[in-house]
Amino acid sequence: MSRFWSSIVHNITPYIPGEQPKLNNLIKLNTNENPYPPSPKVLDALREEIADSLRLYPDPYADRVKTTLASLYTLSPQHVFAGNGSDEVLAFLFQALLKHDHPILFPDVTYSFYPVYCQLYEIPYKAIPVTADLDINLDDYCHPNGGIIFPNPNAPTGLPVSQTDIEKLLLRNTESVVVIDEAYVDFGTESSISLIQKYPNLVVVQTLSKARSLAGLRVGFAIGHPELIEALERVKNSFNSFPLSRFAITGAVAALEDQDYFEKTRQQIIRTRDILMAHMEEMGFFILPSRANFIFVHHPNYNARDLAQQLRMRSIVVRHFPFPRINQYLRITVGTDEQCNALLAALTEILS
Ligand code: PMP
Repeated sequence: MSRFWSSIVHNITPYIPGEQPKLNNLIKLNTNENPYPPSPKVLDALREEIADSLRLYPDPYADRVKTTLASLYTLSPQHVFAGNGSDEVLAFLFQALLKHDHPILFPDVTYSFYPVYCQLYEIPYKAIPVTADLDINLDDYCHPNGGIIFPNPNAPTGLPVSQTDIEKLLLRNTESVVVIDEAYVDFGTESSISLIQKYPNLVVVQTLSKARSLAGLRVGFAIGHPELIEALERVKNSFNSFPLSRFAITGAVAALEDQDYFEKTRQQIIRTRDILMAHMEEMGFFILPSRANFIFVHHPNYNARDLAQQLRMRSIVVRHFPFPRINQYLRITVGTDEQCNALLAALTEILS
């Protein structure tokens, strides 16, 4: 603490990112990274970038990323914004489109970065309780609001919201922006990008950190009506004109172009997830029906934090959130089959 701090810095409770352990040989199932490497085509493209042009600034508009995404979703590049990870895209969205007089609405159990952005940008918010089953019920989002944001599937529960419910929300909530954070959508949830042309107040955010195995490159994007995208560009150009490095642009384009690799790896993760869930259910765990690359579990006879510590002693890292309603759950990233087998073996030892 220092007398030189602004009052915002003084009062804010920053987001705590999942641990990135310095030790090798840990089985890291705590931050929902992809256990498989990025497409080999990404590495080839990056090598060429090193040889060529790093002395020059990157394209401030990341046009190659925008045109690649636009053709993937049959939209125009004006429908696309690209940022330094979807966390940055979200930060710009809060500032550009969600800061109004009415409070914004998001679930009480959700990505814990949302309330932090609200504090940072002084945005009023109201947390809407998820149901007893930890589901998001969009019928509860009928209050006057300055915007609505939720992940689909939700984090850290992995539970999806249906497109029918999303359209019902969009039909009645026409006066504020609705942001759907689809960080984990590629592992079995339906995307709302197909609704973009129909609803001018919808923004969908995605990332290359999960299904494209590029958490270290930092690329995220938003898709929405060009007027909404322009608001993001205005904030970006008032903060940092070059959020995507040359590496990020080149790697993102190569990853987005390799659809075969993307399909293969995401299907593998879905298969591993379903097998892991079946085995853990047999061990007495209660598991939410996940549509993400992680599972959210609790065991009626064991304290979640103790279980996490026991796993850590066996070199396996999972995530425990000390938050109301979910402090008896663990969030476990789906790894390779081998990593999941090691997890099951460790759990068998701990529970016996
Ligand atoms: N949204 C959600 C729901 C997340 O869990 C994460 C990952 N922590 C992000 C966005 C941000 O991911 P990234 O900045 O790596 O794109």
